[in-house]
Amino acid sequence: MSDKRHFSKIPSINLLLQLEQGQVLVNEYSHEATVDAIRGAVDKFRSGVLPEVDEGKLGEQLLSEAQALLQQKFTPSLRRMINATGTVIHTNLGRAKLSAYVQDALNTTAFSFSNLEYDIETGGRGSRYQHLEEMLCELTGAEAALVVNNNAAAVMLSLSALAKEKEVIVSRGELVEIGGSFRIPEIIELSGCYLKEVGTTNKTHPHDYEHGIGEHTAAILKVHASNYKILGFTRETSIAELSEIAMKGQVPLIHDMGSGMLISLTKYGLGYEMTVADSLAAGADVVTFSGDKVLGGPQAGIIVGKKQYIDAMKKNQLTRALRVDKMTIATLEATLRLYYDEQEAIRKIPTLQMLVVSLEELTQKANKLKAQLSVLGEQITAEVVDSCSQVGGGAYPGEEIASKAVAIASSSMSANQLEERLRQASTPIIVKIRNQKCELDVRTIECSEFAVVVEVLRAVLEG
Ligand SMILES: *Cc1c(COP(=O)(O)O)cnc(C)c1O
Repeated sequence: MSDKRHFSKIPSINLLLQLEQGQVLVNEYSHEATVDAIRGAVDKFRSGVLPEVDEGKLGEQLLSEAQALLQQKFTPSLRRMINATGTVIHTNLGRAKLSAYVQDALNTTAFSFSNLEYDIETGGRGSRYQHLEEMLCELTGAEAALVVNNNAAAVMLSLSALAKEKEVIVSRGELVEIGGSFRIPEIIELSGCYLKEVGTTNKTHPHDYEHGIGEHTAAILKVHASNYKILGFTRETSIAELSEIAMKGQVPLIHDMGSGMLISLTKYGLGYEMTVADSLAAGADVVTFSGDKVLGGPQAGIIVGKKQYIDAMKKNQLTRALRVDKMTIATLEATLRLYYDEQEAIRKIPTLQMLVVSLEELTQKANKLKAQLSVLGEQITAEVVDSCSQVGGGAYPGEEIASKAVAIASSSMSANQLEERLRQASTPIIVKIRNQKCELDVRTIECSEFAVVVEVLRAVLEG
């Protein structure tokens, strides 16, 4: 096939660059990038990837291909998406959306020098951790705090600093895997500790832990079963019970809370989950949790607890390897400050806002979206339907919250085709398919995004 191609007729790169279409590319993407792209297009032509065209059209074809290559290369890989799934903390969609109120903090820190590790008072060296520690102590009642890269790192650092080369006791009901790459038995091994399993999958009694403690035991670890629920004939040993056992055995009690909540959301209609302060008050010595789950901040692993244990972690070499950068510190500090006033936190942190919004407000939102979609005319049908959202991010496993969605259907394509096109659109929209319709759960879509939804749908329907 390719031997029939008129290779000798391929216009020179210089000639292509002089054509009007070539000039447009040079102006938009630079000379160097355009030359690279034309070379790429010529390679594709030579290897037979591009279809055969008349000799007179060859230049045009190569420049069109070069343009496509340039567009691909210059489109950011990380893109904005619209989350219409109703899952508030969607691990695949970037987890927590930061509050717009932390933008100033991010701008100031990212684009200027700052006192990240400088003590303004004395002119000497400061600690990057001091910016967060006091706030975290105040918000949780802890004696000390430390922030690292993510919660997986927080668990590793806690274990490595407090129980290296020693045994860590964990209930068989809590040897969980979270998100595929975080598995408690492996994290324990990686931290240089030995796992000592106690109890059974469904029941672990206080006496199981008591009997488990031996001369090589250095810690008890309790893990939040973030993505599943054991129902029926069960017995879990509480933090308060474990605290007594740990105290008697003279070992620290580490609680990996996963999501970790700073305020209780029961009064907003969500089920009971222990807050970080509850866990510390019940006797946990060290509590670890994520910054970008229910807390609604940047990716981070937060460790709070007794000063003697946090001090040991601060001295550990791993801390340097797991440390957070200034943008994390800036956005986490600004997010935590919003928590000084619970009402303000609920109003200004998108994650919390999406969790507590009333069904009445969701109904209004869904009606509003439906009305805006009416400009698309006959091309689609849209109706407001009952839906179920999930918290996600390992908080409230198994719990569904009643929500509202707009179910859409097109006369020209199936729900699966529509879902695929929405997903592959310039601004991807991720929907749920139910009853042969694409559902847009309005819990996770902001009203300010409705116009984008309409435009994307318009483009998708027009092919
Ligand atoms: C999510 C989760 C982790 C991992 O946290 P990252 O911040 O993703 O590293 C660890 N433990 C539990 C119980 C979790 O839910």
